[in-house]
Amino acid sequence: MANQDSTSPSHALFDQFVQAQTCKEVQRTFSELCHHLQVDPRDYQSFYTKLKERLNYWKAKSLWVKLDKRAQHQDYQQGEVCAKNKCLVLGAGPCGLRTAIELALLGAHVVVLEKRDSFSRNNVLHLWPYTIYDLRGLAAKKFYGKFCTGALDHISIRQLQLILLKVCLLLGVEVQTGVEFKGFVEPSGATGWMAKLFPDNHPAGKFQFDVFIYAGGGSFVPYGFKRKELRGKLAIGITCNFINRHTAAEAQVAEISGVARIYNQKFFQDLLTETGIDLENIVYYKDDTHYFVMTAKKKSLLKMGVIKQDFSDADKLLAQVNVDQEALLRYAYDAAQFSTGHCLPDMQFAQNHAGQPDVAMFDFTCMHRAENASLVRERKGQKLLMGLVGDCLVEPFWPLGTGIARGFLAAFDTAWMVRSWGKGRPHMEVLAERESIYQLLSQTTPENTSKKYSAFSIDPATRYQHVNLNSVKAIQVKNLNIIYSFY
Ligand code: FAD
Repeated sequence: MANQDSTSPSHALFDQFVQAQTCKEVQRTFSELCHHLQVDPRDYQSFYTKLKERLNYWKAKSLWVKLDKRAQHQDYQQGEVCAKNKCLVLGAGPCGLRTAIELALLGAHVVVLEKRDSFSRNNVLHLWPYTIYDLRGLAAKKFYGKFCTGALDHISIRQLQLILLKVCLLLGVEVQTGVEFKGFVEPSGATGWMAKLFPDNHPAGKFQFDVFIYAGGGSFVPYGFKRKELRGKLAIGITCNFINRHTAAEAQVAEISGVARIYNQKFFQDLLTETGIDLENIVYYKDDTHYFVMTAKKKSLLKMGVIKQDFSDADKLLAQVNVDQEALLRYAYDAAQFSTGHCLPDMQFAQNHAGQPDVAMFDFTCMHRAENASLVRERKGQKLLMGLVGDCLVEPFWPLGTGIARGFLAAFDTAWMVRSWGKGRPHMEVLAERESIYQLLSQTTPENTSKKYSAFSIDPATRYQHVNLNSVKAIQVKNLNIIYSFY
């Protein structure tokens, strides 16, 4: 809805864009705004400046102040440092979009590909203090007034995607939705690296790039990268979302920022006695929805009929045919009721993207992380720098909420790598430096990263307390330069 005090059509369109609550609405209002102001978003190098000049609106000005402050950081060298680079980012999840913003600030031509055409994940992400600071700096509060009000330190995945999508568009990033990356078209004599897409006639298939950032989520990594499997003891996660009607009674119910069995034996014993539900931990966040994430014990899932038959193999155990959906809904409902002291009134499941009650069970037994964060592919003399970002780099354990914190650190580290690439540093040095920094990622916690959030930038030295950019030597990453020598 347009703000009442905006009489100019462009002001009304800007308000609609800022307030848009779906991916489609963001894209539509943005395109109408550009059309109305006669600014071409494909003109990525001067788009932001022209938009600012043509949209003389006080509400927009406070947004420009934030984005200008970020853009003026010395690391970006006025957007000159990567002005010659073309970056393809796969995935418009939070980490793909966050990386795209940094690449745009470095001056690169950035295209993001996303196979979905909507943002539908209700699940809520925990934010470390630095990510809250970072997102405030990108004007998150202007796009989402409720962003981390008071002591809140979380946000729904879809809301975070919406904020980042809006920032991306304002900075001239081209975000293409409903298009799936299927692989590479290797350089011929006349053309550079391009993408094979579905649908195959999509215009983004013509984009030639020298940097490819893979931010496609946890399921796999692209050809050339290897993953390590970290197998722990069986851990079954359940997430569920209930409608938040934002009533006074709901507001009274306290959040649970994480109760683990070892810290509160009585709570879990009482839960077991009263309901038969046996958990290792539970988190409850009040956000756009009432969101719960818990780790449940297999024995109680079997006893309560959620899992039909016992298997030692986690995939078989949690296969759809082996799960009684109704029993799962009851289990999640009862756990949510108990842990909020039966104080949440009228608990009704929110719907997921498929229009079903938003309850899901996940296997956290086996977590993956990539062995390397970067590589360079080379064909017919054309080099392609590749980087991994987000869940595909290090898969997060949701109840600990490390996904965004480590995901954004990796986004900044990747932007730092692209900066070095843009400066023309020898590519083996670029890879060695990236791998040196990557060694720190899995150990990062809010305690061992710098507390000077205002100084955070893509420069790793501003974020990690002890970073040695040369701990990995160029000679050690020879295997990360894949040269196709057949011509
Ligand atoms: P994602 O957010 O997974 O984004 C990857 C994007 O890439 C997706 O939008 C996908 O559609 C797109 N994509 C993939 N392949 C292609 C392709 N070939 N072509 C084009 N696009 C492609 N974390 C928590 O802390 N708590 C939770 O409760 C929680 N729930 C989750 C529920 C689901 C269903 C999923 C998938 C993840 C959940 N996570 C949760 C993880 C959390 O969403 C991520 O840590 C966070 O979003 C950062 O991830 P990302 O940007 O790396 O990847």
